[in-house]
Amino acid sequence: GTREQRWEMRVHDLGTRRIVHLIDRTGSYTAERMRVDFVANASHELRTPLASLLGYIETLQDEAGEDPAIRGRFLKIMNDEARRMQRLIEDLISLSRIEADKYRKPEQTVDLNTLVEEVRLELIGGGRPRAADLEFDLSAVPPVLGDRVQLSQLLHNIIGNAMKYGRDATPVRFQLAQRDDGMVQLSVADEGEGIPPEHIPRLTERFYRVDSGRSRAMGGTGLGLAIVKHVVERHRGRLDIASIVGKGTTVTILLPGLTGAQPPEAVS
Ligand code: ADP
Repeated sequence: GTREQRWEMRVHDLGTRRIVHLIDRTGSYTAERMRVDFVANASHELRTPLASLLGYIETLQDEAGEDPAIRGRFLKIMNDEARRMQRLIEDLISLSRIEADKYRKPEQTVDLNTLVEEVRLELIGGGRPRAADLEFDLSAVPPVLGDRVQLSQLLHNIIGNAMKYGRDATPVRFQLAQRDDGMVQLSVADEGEGIPPEHIPRLTERFYRVDSGRSRAMGGTGLGLAIVKHVVERHRGRLDIASIVGKGTTVTILLPGLTGAQPPEAVS
């Protein structure tokens, strides 16, 4: 959105002189506005599946509920709606945890080779559609100072997106490598329909979606990349999203490796 300039004026009357103090409140206004929008969006996202659930419960309570075929069909839909609410609440909790940890340095020594392998097995084991198209190109990388749970979430979210928005029967390629400057590079490339450039800067905003219908149909919460951004920031890393419409998207994350990026202190 547009960033409105907002000033607060304070006048100090000193008898013979008057001091006019202008304070730039633009930043805090934006933060407050974002918080209000966030609560409104989150409530709306929860209200929709909840209204649907209540509707089905009501229908099942009258005669329709006695037909086993209808019951089965409705219970399946109700299960999907409840799961959608559960995913949303879990993502909201994750996001608030990561935000609460913002100023706390992550301090686990995380071996990304092992973590990626765990996530790979979870993705395949979860019976996710298209899991067979996952390709992993892994090279040994130095450990990073990090938070294992949050880095696992980051991996799930970026690989999950590539699987959700990639085209059927096209591969999703994951790469893990060390760069010459000591940074560890994680990237995920898909061959989906890509993202028009004007949307790219906004993808990490909470609930921002290019195509809400598609996101919802794929079970998306609209919070995945917001979580990724916060995890990357907490780990002092970098996030880059590159996309070509019609060709696909590549998400790249750089994290400081424990060796190389942080040279040992000089010995005197
Ligand atoms: P969602 O739960 O909607 O997937 P995300 O925060 O993970 O939420 O992503 C935000 C939006 O960015 C998605 O709704 C989708 O429009 C777009 N997006 C994310 N990853 C990709 C991708 N690999 N290809 C195309 N679009 C993507």
